[in-house]
Amino acid sequence: MYVCGATPQAAPHIGHLRSGVIYDLLLRWLRRTGHEVTFVRNVTDVDDKIIAVAAERGTPWFAVAEANQRVFDQGYDVLGCLPPTVAPRATGHVPEMIVLIRRLIEAGHAYAAGGDVYFDVKSWADRYGALSNQRLDNMRPAGDTPNEDAKRDPRDFALWKGAKPGEPSWETPWGEGRPGWHLECSAMATKYLGPTFDIHGGGVDLIFPHHENEIAQSQAAGDGFARYWLHNGLLTVDGVKMSKSIGNVVLLTDLLDRARPVEVRYYLASAHYRSLMDYTDAALAEAVAAYQRIEGFVTRAAELVDAGSGDGDLPEAFTTAMNDDLGVPQALAVVHETVRDGNSALASGDTDAVVRHLAAVRAMTGTLGLDPLAGPWMGERDEDLRPVVDALVKVALEQRQAARSRKDYAAADEIRDGLAAAGILVEDTPHGPRWELKRD
Ligand SMILES: [Zn+2]
Repeated sequence: MYVCGATPQAAPHIGHLRSGVIYDLLLRWLRRTGHEVTFVRNVTDVDDKIIAVAAERGTPWFAVAEANQRVFDQGYDVLGCLPPTVAPRATGHVPEMIVLIRRLIEAGHAYAAGGDVYFDVKSWADRYGALSNQRLDNMRPAGDTPNEDAKRDPRDFALWKGAKPGEPSWETPWGEGRPGWHLECSAMATKYLGPTFDIHGGGVDLIFPHHENEIAQSQAAGDGFARYWLHNGLLTVDGVKMSKSIGNVVLLTDLLDRARPVEVRYYLASAHYRSLMDYTDAALAEAVAAYQRIEGFVTRAAELVDAGSGDGDLPEAFTTAMNDDLGVPQALAVVHETVRDGNSALASGDTDAVVRHLAAVRAMTGTLGLDPLAGPWMGERDEDLRPVVDALVKVALEQRQAARSRKDYAAADEIRDGLAAAGILVEDTPHGPRWELKRD
């Protein structure tokens, strides 16, 4: 599976992270259903926008890309997304791009002109536009270089862009320059997945020209390329597209002021991947409440019965929903139904049913990376307990001190042993006793 990753010209907004969660759900589902998945998500680490931001700030272009990419990776990580098998960077794959350009020129589908190299769309006219369902006759000029006069046809797009003063560039047989965006993905996808591979994903805004051009380059060079295409819907804020100029960009940190990471993950997972998702504070709050209903049942059930391993069988309705174009909203409906049944079982004291429903809820939420009792969420709530434990331990230590003062060493030792049995180690220091959790 190849997914078009970020162009890290800025920190990710929640739309980028929604994409991260969506492909993580697909990855987990494919693995759960017995597929071996090589997951490639690229980083477009050289690009017009990155170069523009760097010039504005007076920092090197690679520093801008590196710093923002780190924030992207942290964001994916905080939301429990599994790391890709490989995260190739465009700048590390120029040799592969040169090979692909050479193949296209030799096959008569590309030409060098004015310092650039272009894809000749007329040479591929029958098939160009199939993914985005348009005909070449109706397409507008590519508008991707200032050298429009050098092109044979205004709709030809740049595979390679000639060097401009002060910009990063690499040496090629056609002169110094840097890669066109579309070419990068064709070169990197086939390097790691072979000439033909299963799934290619990306945002719906990438269908044209980006994905259309990827297909044209790879297939004109003789590769089969992707068998299936997945396009995720975008995310708006209060009905408006996020943009820096409007000032409505919502970052992960904004959501983490209102919800825990697992609740944000639940929220971003809760809409179907193809749907347009509209962020509102009320929608997030609703998702938080829904996740806490699941968590409430799991926590109470696990206090009563053995929580099990979490890798039990999945209810058939859940599997059917997931197999139907990754129907996560329908799959979550099955989770909530099971939680309701589980709560009834708790109320009526039907322990066998509690065990069954808990196993099913853990198996389903685990498959979605949302199991409250599994990493990385387990213990997340315990962080809040630290001040409470601290206060309780202080009370116990004061009683121990009082016992010592009246020379009742047996009582003092009993308090210390009781704390040790609960996993709390007490150390006497010149400044008084201190405690820490026993690590094993
Ligand atoms: Zn791409």
